[in-house]
Amino acid sequence: MTRPIHATIHPAAVAHNLAQARRHAPHSFLWAVIKANAYGHGIERVFSGLQSADGLAMLDFDEAQRVRAMGWRKPILMLEGCFDAGDIDTCAALDLTTMVHSVHQLALHAAHPVPLTVQVKVNSGMNRLGFALDVLPAQALLAMPHLKLAMWVTHFANADVTGKAAAPLAAFETALHALFMQHPPLKAPLSTSNSAAIGALPAAHHSAVRSGIMSYGSSPYAGQTAAQLGLKPAMVLTSELIAVQHLRAGDTVGYGSTFTAPAAMRIGVVACGYADGYPRLAPTGTPIAIDGVLTRTVGRVSMDMLTVDLTPVPHAAVGSAVELWGEQVSIDAVAQSAGTIGYELMCALAQRVLTRVDCALIDGR
Ligand SMILES: *Cc1c(COP(=O)(O)O)cnc(C)c1O
Repeated sequence: MTRPIHATIHPAAVAHNLAQARRHAPHSFLWAVIKANAYGHGIERVFSGLQSADGLAMLDFDEAQRVRAMGWRKPILMLEGCFDAGDIDTCAALDLTTMVHSVHQLALHAAHPVPLTVQVKVNSGMNRLGFALDVLPAQALLAMPHLKLAMWVTHFANADVTGKAAAPLAAFETALHALFMQHPPLKAPLSTSNSAAIGALPAAHHSAVRSGIMSYGSSPYAGQTAAQLGLKPAMVLTSELIAVQHLRAGDTVGYGSTFTAPAAMRIGVVACGYADGYPRLAPTGTPIAIDGVLTRTVGRVSMDMLTVDLTPVPHAAVGSAVELWGEQVSIDAVAQSAGTIGYELMCALAQRVLTRVDCALIDGR
């Protein structure tokens, strides 16, 4: 028998969440962002749920190859652009739209002049990728007619914080409109919104939006839950109790003995640890559900196991069902307790966790 830990992936939830994104930004081209193997869900596993998207965005070329092999005919956007000349050929062969975010990439495209559709990335304050607002590469683009300019793009550093993206948005719009006045051939649609901006910043929707985290049913905001946003979890991580311990007052649990029983209590041992992708930094008190009842973890998470307080679940026994995150316990609540975000937990789901795909319709489960 194998360990009882499983991840269940719900493509219907992805379809539902993309429909929510579409409801927020009905007039924008909807990119579903599937980088990092669909935020850890597995591109193949969620593929059926992605069909309503207008395009798929990612950054690994092998992922683009995989979705083309699965029959995706609509646009594909490479968010970090080409890393070398070979990637330019891959873009041409697979009909990929590629980002151009740096002088270095412009030089790559000049030296290897293959006709491609490109989006140009502008830096609005994140200071990772993109051209500065005051040095947009007008002359270089005008000098490369083999590049078909499809869109001007930026990515906000703070779209999840009320009011903090308005100024970068305005600066981006102002700079681009000035450029269009000066060089009408460089006029192209704008794209600025990730999930947080899709939900909170209608003024930023423009011509295309990029839905990442919300597609997978996690909240892009610290102060609002995914359920409040009408999102459904696409990943449910479950396991079982493999042992039960009776503690006396003063007994401790796990490495470092970080939890001490204040009184006699029962604890359960769950087949799930940090080697499965559960965050080791999740402290005592992290929410978890046993047999459908919300309780808390106690003590340190170890490699293959973690321990839970069974006080609210007196009937729990070996074999009792455990939900680490998913429907009863939001992945965001676990992440918050561990000092991180849902994105990281999804992406960290370990290879060794058996994963199945739920083919049921979302309303039927
Ligand atoms: C990852 C990414 C997104 C999606 O962001 P979410 O917060 O997951 O919605 C959008 N745009 C770019 C450029 C990205 O790299």
